[in-house]
Amino acid sequence: MSVIAFAKNWNGKFKSSTHELVSYSKKLASDLSSCLIVVSIGEVAEEELKSLGKFGADKIISVNDPKMNILTSRVYAEVLAKIAEKESVKLLVLSDNNSGKAIAPRVSVKMKAGLVASVQELPTSLDPFIVKKRVFSGKAFRYVQIDSSVKIITIAKNCFGIVENPVESVIEEFIPEVDTELFKVQVIEEEEQKNKVILSDADVVISAGRGMRSPDNWGPVEDLAEVLNAATACSRPVSDEGWRGHEEHVGQTGKVIAPNLYIAAGISGAIQHVAGISRSKCIVAINTDPEAPIFGIADYGIVGDAMEILPRLTEAFRNSKS
Ligand SMILES: Cc1cc2nc3c(=O)[nH]c(=O)nc-3n(C[C@H](O)[C@H](O)[C@H](O)COP(=O)(O)OP(=O)(O)OC[C@H]3O[C@@H](n4cnc5c(N)ncnc54)[C@H](O)[C@@H]3O)c2cc1C
Repeated sequence: MSVIAFAKNWNGKFKSSTHELVSYSKKLASDLSSCLIVVSIGEVAEEELKSLGKFGADKIISVNDPKMNILTSRVYAEVLAKIAEKESVKLLVLSDNNSGKAIAPRVSVKMKAGLVASVQELPTSLDPFIVKKRVFSGKAFRYVQIDSSVKIITIAKNCFGIVENPVESVIEEFIPEVDTELFKVQVIEEEEQKNKVILSDADVVISAGRGMRSPDNWGPVEDLAEVLNAATACSRPVSDEGWRGHEEHVGQTGKVIAPNLYIAAGISGAIQHVAGISRSKCIVAINTDPEAPIFGIADYGIVGDAMEILPRLTEAFRNSKS
C-alpha cells in the first residue's frame, strides 16, 4: 500500500507541521514496506522541496503551477486525487489543519475513500487498518477501522513529532489537467497578519482568563508573548466580554490547539476550556486558587497573582536571552 503525504507550503516555505507530517508518513510507509510520495502544490523552490528528504520523502511530486499558489480546496482536491490515481496510491495523509480539513473530505468523496480526521498516533493495526482519534472534546478515544480500498487520514499536531530520516529525494514535476470549471471561484489574494504569531501554528501560547479582571491588564500577557515569540489566547468569557478578539478564544467552542508550551494565567480550567488545550506538550498554570481545576492538568503550577508573576517571568526570560 503506497503512501502519499500532502505538504502544504506557506509562500513557498514549509513549516514544522509539514516536517512532522512527512516524518509520520515515512514511518507509516516503512511499516507498510512502501515508499513515501510527498505532493507539493504551487510554486516551491527546488531547495525547499529537497529539504523534505531530511524527513524521509522518497519522491516529491511538485505541481509547480503559479495558478495554484493560493489554496483553492476544489482544485487541490482534484490534483491530489489525480496524483493518487496515477500513482495507484491507497493511503493519503494530510495535516489536521485548516487546509487538511478543507481538502481531505473532497478527496474522500472523489475517490470513495474512507476518511478519519485528527488521528492521534500511528495506526494500531495495518490490516485491518485501525486508527485512534479523540472524541467528546478529548474525554474519550475511539478506534476506527477503515475498510475502503483507498484510505485517508488527517493527523493531529504534535501526535508524532519531527523525526529525521534522511533520504535522497527524487523530484518529479507534474501539472495535471484540471477542469477549468474548478477555477471559477478562486482566492485571488491572501494577506498575512503582520507582527503577530498565528495561534494555530504557535509553538508557545500565552493565554489568560477572567482572573486578569480587566482588558486593561493584558500588558503583561503581551510582554511575555513578545519575549517568547508566542501567540496570545484567552478563555471564552474574555472574548465574550469583548476584552479580546474571538480569534483568540480556545476551547470546545473556540480553537483547538496543541503548542509545545501553553501558559494559562487566571484561567480556572473548566472542562470546556481544557478541551481546546489538553494536547499541549507542557502546560503551566498561574492561579491564585490552589484548588483551581487547571492545576489538575498542568505540568507546572504557580500559585500566585498573575499580575505579579507574568512580569517576573518576562524579566527572567529577557535576562536569560541576553
Ligand atoms: C457549552 C459551553 C461551551 C463553552 N466553551 C468554552 C470554550 O470553548 N472555552 C472556554 O474557555 N470556556 C468555555 N466555556 C466556559 C467555561 O465553562 C468557563 O466558564 C470558562 O472557561 C471560565 O473562564 P475563566 O477560567 O477565564 O474564568 P473563571 O472561571 O472566572 O476563572 C478565573 C480564574 O482566575 C483565577 N484568578 C483570579 N484572580 C487571579 C489573579 N490575580 N491571578 C491569577 N489567577 C487569578 C481564579 O482563581 C479563577 O480560577 C463554555 C461553557 C459552555 C456552557
